[in-house]
Amino acid sequence: MDLELRLEGVHEGILVSGNVTVDVTGECGRCLDPFEYDLEIDVQELFSYEDQEDLEAEDEEEQRLVENEKIDLEPVLRDAVVTALPFQPVCREDCEGLCSECGIHLSEDPGHHHEVLDPRWSALQGLAGQTAVTADKDNVLDEREES
Ligand SMILES: [Zn+2]
Ligand SMILES: [Zn+2]
Repeated sequence: MDLELRLEGVHEGILVSGNVTVDVTGECGRCLDPFEYDLEIDVQELFSYEDQEDLEAEDEEEQRLVENEKIDLEPVLRDAVVTALPFQPVCREDCEGLCSECGIHLSEDPGHHHEVLDPRWSALQGLAGQTAVTADKDNVLDEREES
């Protein structure tokens, strides 16, 4: 974890700002490949010298305090990292994942496909299943059946 932070004294407390770089390792949510990248996060947090009691109770935002002239950066950084992490990490934006038929990496073999029923053929099957087909003058299928 690389830290590049600036501490600034303001009249209510200490303003911490800067950016943090963390190494993220994980598993792609689409193809399950392990990956690693750097995540850069902007951090900005105000540590107050004292509790601001006039703060609305419904304000759920956690208040950071300067305690014994020290500030505790750890929870701030942890929150920042957790917020910045993607819900479903992928090895790269356009990862195509795995073939649903055989599990091969689609990005390694883009032209890859499996034999599927000709869609026209399955349409015919659907028609055959209908007992009452409304007569349609343009229906080529009817002509074929008559011949
Ligand atoms: Zn992937
Ligand atoms: Zn496949």
